[in-house]
Amino acid sequence: MLLRHTPAEIKERKALTVNPAKTCQPIGAMYAALGVHGCLPHSHGSQGCYAYHRSALTRHFKEPVVAATSAFTEGASVFGGQANLVQAIDNIFTVYNPQVIAVHTTCLSETIGDDIPQIVAKAKAEGKIPEGKFVFHANTPSYVGSHVTGFASMTKAMVESFAESNSHKQKTLNLIPGYVEPSDMAAIRRIAESMGIATIMFPDTSRVLNGPLTGKYKMFPEGGVTIDELKKSGSSIGTVALGRTSSLPAARALDAKCKVPCEVLELPVGLHGTDAFVDTLRRLAGVSVPDTLNLERGQLVDTISDWHQYLYGKRVAVVGDPDQVLALTRFLVSLDMRPVHIVTGSPAGKKYTQRLRDAVDDVPGKVNIKVPGDMLLFHQWIQKAPVDLIVGNTYAKYIAKDEDIPLVRYGFPIYDRMGHSYFSTMGYRGALRLMEKMLDAILDRKDRDSTDITMELVM
Ligand code: SF4
Repeated sequence: MLLRHTPAEIKERKALTVNPAKTCQPIGAMYAALGVHGCLPHSHGSQGCYAYHRSALTRHFKEPVVAATSAFTEGASVFGGQANLVQAIDNIFTVYNPQVIAVHTTCLSETIGDDIPQIVAKAKAEGKIPEGKFVFHANTPSYVGSHVTGFASMTKAMVESFAESNSHKQKTLNLIPGYVEPSDMAAIRRIAESMGIATIMFPDTSRVLNGPLTGKYKMFPEGGVTIDELKKSGSSIGTVALGRTSSLPAARALDAKCKVPCEVLELPVGLHGTDAFVDTLRRLAGVSVPDTLNLERGQLVDTISDWHQYLYGKRVAVVGDPDQVLALTRFLVSLDMRPVHIVTGSPAGKKYTQRLRDAVDDVPGKVNIKVPGDMLLFHQWIQKAPVDLIVGNTYAKYIAKDEDIPLVRYGFPIYDRMGHSYFSTMGYRGALRLMEKMLDAILDRKDRDSTDITMELVM
C-alpha cells in the first residue's frame, strides 16, 4: 500500500497541495521551444531546474532532450543573471550553432527580476547574436501556473517575436495544436493535409521527439516549424487553436498583432471533437471532406456501436491537464461511460469548470470535479466511491495499484510506458486507439476476475 497514509476524511484545503497533478512552467516552455526547427531551449536559472526539466521531458519522450542553462551560482542568484545569459548566448551560437535560442525563466530568475528583453538587447548590441539568428523568450515563473501555462506562454512568444502581417496573401491556415504528443501533432496535420489544406502548425514537435534512428546524431532534427513559417503565420487566412488553456493566448496574440481571425476548439478527441475540428477546417478553407476521412469516421462510428455494450455505464476517474480532461470527458460521456471523479492539476478558471460541469450534465449521480485539485483528493474520492477505470498520467498508477483498479495512461507525464509519441489519440483513428486501450483494460480485468466457468473465450 504505497498510499496507505491517504486519510479517509476529506478536508477543505486552500493553501496545501499534496501530490500535485501538474508540474512546473519551464517544462512546458521547453517542450514548446523544441517544436521550432533549429531551436535550442535555454533555461535562465540554476542547473538543478534545467536538469529536472530536461530529464522530465527525456523520461516522457524517451529521446535525448537538448537544452542549455544560465547555470546560476550564488553570485548570479544575488546580483542577477545578466552576465550569465550574455555569455551563454555567445557560447551557444559559437559551439552549437542553432538557428534560434528560446529563453525561458525559472522561479529564481523571476524572483530576482531579470529583464530578459534588456539582456537580449545587450547581447545583440555586443554582437553576440549572429546575423540571421534569433533569440526570443517567455516568462515562466513556476510559483504560478503549470507546465501547460508555460507551454502557452512560449507559444505566444513565437507569435509576438516572429509573426508578420503581409496583407494576408498566404492561403495557409495556422494550426496551434496545444500541449499534445508529437504523434497528436502529426495526426492533426495529417487531417488538414488530407483535406488539401496548406498549414502552418506551431509548435510542431513531430519528427523532433519521435524522429527516426538514422545512425547519425543530429542535435537539431528535421521537424519543427521554421522561423520563416512563423513569420508567414501573420498572413494566413485564419487560425485554428486547439485547447483553450494551451493555445488561446497565442491565437489571440496573432489576431491582435496581425489581424488573423481565430477559432478556438477543444482538442479533437473522440467522434464529436474530431467532427468539430474537421468541420471548422472545411468551413475556413472552403474545401470538402475527402472520402478517406469519411471512411475513418464511419469505422469509428461502427466501432462505437459494436463496443458500446462493454463500455456502457462504466465509472471512470479522470485526472490530467485541462484541455485533455475536458475533451476526454466529452468523449467518455458520448460513449455512455460515467466520468464521476474529475481533477485537473492546472488552474483553468471558472468558465472552464462550468464547461466541465456542462459536459457531465447527463451523467447520472454525483460527479466530483476539482479545478485545480491534487492527487490526494482524487485518491480520497476513489476510495469513497470506487470506479471501474482510471485515466491519467503515470502518477495515477499508485492509486490504481492500491485500489486495484485498471489504469489507462493518458496525458503528461507518462514515464513508465512507451508508444504515446508514436500512436496518437487524436482524430478518428486516435479515438479508436483510445477506445481500444480502455476496452482492453476493462476486459483484461474482467478476465482476471472471472472464474473458470464464467470466463468467456469469445466476446
Ligand atoms: S518549480 Fe521553480 S525552482 Fe522548482 S524546478 Fe521548477 S522552475 Fe525550478
